[in-house]
Amino acid sequence: MLEYTLLGSNVNRIKAHNMRAVLLRLLLTEPAFRVQIANQLSLSTTTITNICDELIELGLVAEDGIEEISGRRRVGRPRAALHLVKDARYAIGVQVGVETYRIAVANLKAEIISHHSYTFSRATPPQEVFQQISGQIEDVIHENKLERQRIVGIGVGGAGLVNYRTGVNILSPNLGWENVAIRDLLSERLHLPVMVDNNVKAMALGEGFFGAGRGAKSLIFVYGRVGVGSGIFMDNHLLRGADLGAGEIGHMILHAEGGKECRCGQRGCLETLVSEGALVSSAEELIQKNPSSRLAQTMLSGDGRPIERIFTAAREGDVLAKKLVEDAAHYLGIALANLVNLLNPELILLGGLFAQGQDLILPIAKETLKKTAFAGLGGKVQLQATGFGWQAGIVGAAALALTTFFYSNPEEIE
Ligand SMILES: [Zn+2]
Repeated sequence: MLEYTLLGSNVNRIKAHNMRAVLLRLLLTEPAFRVQIANQLSLSTTTITNICDELIELGLVAEDGIEEISGRRRVGRPRAALHLVKDARYAIGVQVGVETYRIAVANLKAEIISHHSYTFSRATPPQEVFQQISGQIEDVIHENKLERQRIVGIGVGGAGLVNYRTGVNILSPNLGWENVAIRDLLSERLHLPVMVDNNVKAMALGEGFFGAGRGAKSLIFVYGRVGVGSGIFMDNHLLRGADLGAGEIGHMILHAEGGKECRCGQRGCLETLVSEGALVSSAEELIQKNPSSRLAQTMLSGDGRPIERIFTAAREGDVLAKKLVEDAAHYLGIALANLVNLLNPELILLGGLFAQGQDLILPIAKETLKKTAFAGLGGKVQLQATGFGWQAGIVGAAALALTTFFYSNPEEIE
């Protein structure tokens, strides 16, 4: 069982539950008066006062200056608004990608305090990768002079299918990993609570609690890099599906007949049309046939990642590169229209290469979405790039720990 790191183990569950509810309330809207919190949480003012006093004592919450109600004379105790002390505790976020991972320290508002990037080889056994990650987390704790009791927990965004209840990365085709017990590998060494989920689901969670999706009833985060995936966040919860596979938009089939073979074994999946690998290999085919094009010159220049070179060529007006990116944006728009027809979200956020090339991709994806989705729904959904940029993954990973171990109750975890 997981420990209640928020308060220590001697606090009863109901009290811990109420404390977390108050903290979540303050995260979403602050400052707030005790009476407002009491009304919203349907708790007595005495209960709220006791809880708030305890949270103040723990240093998690502070009072603003005493406020008078405008123009009226008040009798009795003056009212003081409460707010979170964002640097009272920290979470560690780990984003595991393909041959690369990032480790970050975030405060209670998921603001990144420090971060590092590392690379690893696909040939390294996963146990060894997590041994390295454990050591690096220790270094990060030391470097930032973090007291252990002020660390809420560790959140890990993993690639592929993840069982968040057991912390096992069931399958990660792009890494060749199967049944990697990420949570156990880290918690055994670090003795801190660990929450693991799919990295795009984590990004959706990060946006829903701490980013552009705050206050939205429904949002979908769509991420493209080596793979393509999505995280669906509705009514403050991630939609995971019966077998945890909800949101696998990368394998939405757009060309059932005759499409390119996908690494999942099917043909014509979205991933074969819009992933980084798909765009780079199409660009390579094009430059073979058009060796004197600007795309060929830019691709061979060696500046930046190949995908960035494709975007550069498109921005500089190369017809081949433009067509390549526009086609991808069009297919992305169709996939988004399918998502909108199915789930009708308020907000769709794009990350990874779709955010990197947003100036080229967004207008076309938006137009296609608008034209393709049912009954004008595509024109109503708000479509934009993540405001977290490349940090979306580490913010999301930290959000996994913060929302599980601090703002809500980890009862779903085995
Ligand atoms: Zn596929």
